[in-house]
Amino acid sequence: MDFDLFVIGGGSAGVRCARISAGHGARVAVAEERFWGGTCVNIGCVPKKLLVQAGEYGAWADDAAGFGWTIQKGPHDWAKLIAAKDREITRLEGIYRKLLSGAGATIFDGRAVLEDAHTVRIGDKRVTAEKIVIATGGHPVRPDIPGAELGIISDDAFYLKTLPRSVAIVGSGFIAVEFAGIFRALGAEVHLIYRQPQPLRGFDHDLRKGLADALQQQGIVLHPNCSPESVTADGASRLLTFGAGQTLATELVFFATGRRPSTRGLGLEDVGVALNAKDAIRVDDDLRSSVPNIYAIGDVTDRINLTPMATAEGHALADTLFGGRPRSVSLQNVPSAVFSTPPIATVGLTEEQACTMRPVDIYMTTFTPMRHNLSGRARRTLMKLVVDSETQKVVGAHMLGEDAPEIIQGIAIAVVMGATKADFDRTIGIHPTAAEEFVTLRTRTRVTGVAEAAE
Ligand code: NDP
Repeated sequence: MDFDLFVIGGGSAGVRCARISAGHGARVAVAEERFWGGTCVNIGCVPKKLLVQAGEYGAWADDAAGFGWTIQKGPHDWAKLIAAKDREITRLEGIYRKLLSGAGATIFDGRAVLEDAHTVRIGDKRVTAEKIVIATGGHPVRPDIPGAELGIISDDAFYLKTLPRSVAIVGSGFIAVEFAGIFRALGAEVHLIYRQPQPLRGFDHDLRKGLADALQQQGIVLHPNCSPESVTADGASRLLTFGAGQTLATELVFFATGRRPSTRGLGLEDVGVALNAKDAIRVDDDLRSSVPNIYAIGDVTDRINLTPMATAEGHALADTLFGGRPRSVSLQNVPSAVFSTPPIATVGLTEEQACTMRPVDIYMTTFTPMRHNLSGRARRTLMKLVVDSETQKVVGAHMLGEDAPEIIQGIAIAVVMGATKADFDRTIGIHPTAAEEFVTLRTRTRVTGVAEAAE
């Protein structure tokens, strides 16, 4: 064999797996057809967060008057922002590439296709490897409606030449609500069109309601309970038909309607790698596919599609295969954040999930962040703990509000360790912060779940 390991895909999962495996002494090759660092670095988490921050500066400039500053806010320069973002992404992509070559991995810039369980073809080159890891990630999908090609997807959103004056965003998942906040904060008219009564299906219902209120507060027009029907072009504008025959003319239609694993055209079916109905590679607890020497990590397995999960899986697999330290990554209590405006962050069970299994105590608070008593900006923060009534373990922590991702990352350690409500209570707060509210939630808001049903 030419290599001990061939990794297909140079995103978060693949780069980590290749780099750590090489560090363990394996002879490693990795192929990437588009950009090193994958979705997260190039057209996902990283540039998205920079755009969110661009929006925040605008709001802070407005807030400053309440603190005595006289600031004349000029117009926003979208092209300048995108150029700055591009420079940063180019820098990061270079770092990812260097990390791999520095670790001693052989790099192939090109599309890799499996010819058999041990042979990979990249262009006109053929190489063999003992083990193969598929880390090809996913890609955004448009809904199957007439004119769908007239709308953009998130890949395109990062390279728009100008800020659209108006945009209709279809969907209300992570990407939809994040971009709604970005476009609105930079001055666009934004409509959010979604099938559910509240945005962000799967998140805690109090957060969903709080977010819907916050989106409306900043002038985003919500169209709940609506499915897209068609898109047509009218000169430079797009006409979206949705719901029961409603139409909306905007400069841009943006489909944020989910992602699918990138498994097509890799030769997977030919070598016997089993996929599920959504095109994801089926893996066992050891990340092994149905072919014993072929593994899959990250979004291509469509389990928890988050960068830190992908890197954790890549690292664990490298340690297992080449580090003499077999281990797996828990899918429990994985914290996550939505960089909406304001952001959401969460760890553990939602109230709805928890209360089907056990009686739970709910502790909740909402308040205006201190700075906004002076800024005058209408903003609310919501914090919520879901506590197992019997064991008093905190099984879920949820927050909507400024700094939520920074705060919940710390809270997540406590939840992963199995902290009880009493552990939270005996922790001294840091004053004055929003975070201290998590350790001063004295009054139970309600008891819900199985016990409530039994009463
Ligand atoms: P999500 O799965 O989060 O949301 C998809 C949205 O599209 C839902 O609102 C869904 O509605 C809607 N939808 C799907 N199909 C249709 C259709 N045919 N017509 C109308 N609406 C439709 O996908 P995203 O693309 O936002 O993000 C993909 C994943 O990437 C996320 O789930 C997350 O794992 C990851 N991600 C993480 C981020 C972070 O960590 N901050 C940021 C961005 C992405 P419904 O609810 O009715 O099904």
